[in-house]
Amino acid sequence: MNLINFMEKFPDEASCRRQFKLIRDQEGVICKKCKCTDHYWLSTLEQYKCKKCGFRTTLRSGTVMENSKLPFRYWFIAMHLLSIVKKPFSTLELQRQIGHKFYEPIWEMVQKLRLAMGDRDSQYKLDEFVELDEGFFESNKEEEVNELTGKKADKKRGRGSQKQSKVIVMTSTKEAKPTKKNQKPSKLRYVKMVVVEDLKASTIEKEVERNIESNSTVKTDGFRSYSNIKSKVKEHLQQIIPAKQADKLLPWVHTVIANAKRQLLGIHHSVSDKYIQNYLDEFCYKLNRRYFGIKVFDRLMVAAVNFNF
Ligand SMILES: [Zn+2]
Repeated sequence: MNLINFMEKFPDEASCRRQFKLIRDQEGVICKKCKCTDHYWLSTLEQYKCKKCGFRTTLRSGTVMENSKLPFRYWFIAMHLLSIVKKPFSTLELQRQIGHKFYEPIWEMVQKLRLAMGDRDSQYKLDEFVELDEGFFESNKEEEVNELTGKKADKKRGRGSQKQSKVIVMTSTKEAKPTKKNQKPSKLRYVKMVVVEDLKASTIEKEVERNIESNSTVKTDGFRSYSNIKSKVKEHLQQIIPAKQADKLLPWVHTVIANAKRQLLGIHHSVSDKYIQNYLDEFCYKLNRRYFGIKVFDRLMVAAVNFNF
């Protein structure tokens, strides 16, 4: 769906609300009070009414839009851009394009969509053959916004102290014969990136358990925190190699780390350590759906309808 198609399909607030309701009906509405899933639709109020207890659920309630006062169309524009623009885009630019007066609500909207993306990907585990390594991302200790509710945005950059955020990067791959020179001997399938407090063995093992199927084979370098990964998966291939050759041993994690760094720094300049996971979630979500084409928008809508925190 390009911009023209998008404008034709969603020309106004009403068309966005209709589509959002359609997806909600497909996904199912759950009563917050009694967990019942049968509802009447009160069309004049645009609310669901529980058939069992009468509790009302607004169109936004229980979704990523809960408590948001922004028009549905803003959300649709943001989801459209997150779906079609390959690289991350700046929220400030989105605010300008929408023409909204305040930065904070737009910033909060995009962050919530990133959370929905992360939530969606957290429902899947990597399997078969997985490369695993740690990456270090420059982040800023200063907070972009004090709370996720976004009251005090400080857009001044470069003031806070720099930090190296530790990220566990995992890529599932499958074998593929190179057909061109310099091509990797495997194909990338899916990616996960998890920001962690430390690189202790127990932390890494917990993430392996959470993100990789136990019947997988995991390949790492000789870092000692990896030594007990084999207790969590079928097979652990650990190879001690000089740092310079790490990209030969684990070609995909290194490519993914380099691309993520380039994209993040190119657009966001300085990312707060508090929100770096959200940016990485956006990066992984898009990468994991790189062959989905126009379906990414619909999938993101489903994620948005089902995400609530
Ligand atoms: Zn109910």
